[in-house]
Amino acid sequence: MTLDLSLVTDYISHGTGLVVLNPATNRVITTVKEYDAASVESAVIDSERAFKQWSHLTAKGRAELLQKWYGLILENAEGLAQIITAECGKPLAEARGEVAYGASFIEWFAEEGKRMYGDVIPSPLAGKKIIVQKQPIGVISAITPWNFPIAMITRKVAPALAAGCTAVVKPAETTPLSALALEALALEAGIPKGVMKIIPTTDPVSVGKVLTEHPVIKKFSFTGSTPVGKLLMKQCAGTVKKVSLELGGNAPFIVFNDANIDKAVEGALISKYRNAGQTCVCANRFYVQADVYDEFISKFTKAVSGFTVGNGAEEGTIVGPLIDEAAVEKVEGLVSLAKEQGANVALGGARHNACGNFYSPTILTDIHHSNAIAQAEIFGPVAPVFKFDAEEEAVQMANDTPYGLAAYFYTQDLGRSFRIMQALEYGMVGVNEGIISTEVAPFGGVKESGVGREGSRYGLDEYTEIKYCLLGGL
Ligand code: ADP
Repeated sequence: MTLDLSLVTDYISHGTGLVVLNPATNRVITTVKEYDAASVESAVIDSERAFKQWSHLTAKGRAELLQKWYGLILENAEGLAQIITAECGKPLAEARGEVAYGASFIEWFAEEGKRMYGDVIPSPLAGKKIIVQKQPIGVISAITPWNFPIAMITRKVAPALAAGCTAVVKPAETTPLSALALEALALEAGIPKGVMKIIPTTDPVSVGKVLTEHPVIKKFSFTGSTPVGKLLMKQCAGTVKKVSLELGGNAPFIVFNDANIDKAVEGALISKYRNAGQTCVCANRFYVQADVYDEFISKFTKAVSGFTVGNGAEEGTIVGPLIDEAAVEKVEGLVSLAKEQGANVALGGARHNACGNFYSPTILTDIHHSNAIAQAEIFGPVAPVFKFDAEEEAVQMANDTPYGLAAYFYTQDLGRSFRIMQALEYGMVGVNEGIISTEVAPFGGVKESGVGREGSRYGLDEYTEIKYCLLGGL
């Protein structure tokens, strides 16, 4: 099957530029035009110009354009999914799911933008009125990762545009095509030029400096690793930008003795092996209570051993490649260290023999909590399974990390459900559920997993300023 690149024709570079590879084959897909720091500065100025007009449209006017964009994404869903699979590797079924998920933010925020309500607060003094209004913050910038090359952009850009902001977005070096296709469809929908600009680059450091330090930009939104997020947050301090950061996670997945084990296995499969384990909310550590440990391991191993590993473009593939060779080497290093520290390999434990960047779905058992793998964000198809006895012990181990993004647990006991929901130091908790993302709920982390929320009505607030006006002499 040849990949249809007609959506991104205008962005293809016929000389030098950013080379895009297929991680399943390591072959070149195409090369796209790229931006340097100077051309990003002019994109920021264009964005400022566009803001003056875009912010003056009515919310309904913006919503109509966003709805058209949403419609065009759905019309082009199959082409977009194929581009995602080609440049990021995830199986086509998952890529199709991502297109629908990514588009859902545009539909949601097109509506939500109409409800950017303020307040009228009763004044404590006579003859005065207190009016509070929400206004778009201005030009925003964003830097996004490769693991959800469409959804991580729409989750930021849709609320920004709905609120009346304009956006300059740097996609990951490995996945510029999905982002450029989104821009092409936004332009086709009639969203004016400059309202959303995608700026691929091979120089994230210099371009990142413009996006975090330029005084015209009032807000910066980032999804990526914690160390890079910390650095970019520091860079934003110089101009006191509002920031949203969606950073790394180390999600615990706890299975209690009273859980429905078949449901827990089902949740574990989807939570761990989605996108070959390369999402920040993927289950990273499994804690299983002693009485059901053997049953869980046996059912989990049986299910995972049936997974088809291969090129995501082939129907039936469950686990695709990792994003690049460095990602495979990182996973190899973590597994070999875990083994040295006593882990037993119940399944996999090595590279997969398909060419490209594949690692076999792996399950590690009999691990002590002190094993280094308990503290690492694995970002690969490896499930370390720990055994515990008491409820408090599971909570203590689950919280023993600087991260606090997503956590999951399985139990059929209502009292325990409430206790554990309360005790877990995480921004998101799935109870008897392995997948929690939806456009209507607030996605985000606590501790070193980030600040701010995306999606839901809270996601719109990230792109607004509150203005308080006191009307006197009434
Ligand atoms: P990942 O491990 O998911 O690739 P990164 O944090 O390295 O996470 O990358 C996420 C995004 O951050 C990508 O778009 C990448 O280009 C960008 N990035 C990485 N380092 C920097 C930096 N120093 N300045 C600006 N952007 C960066």
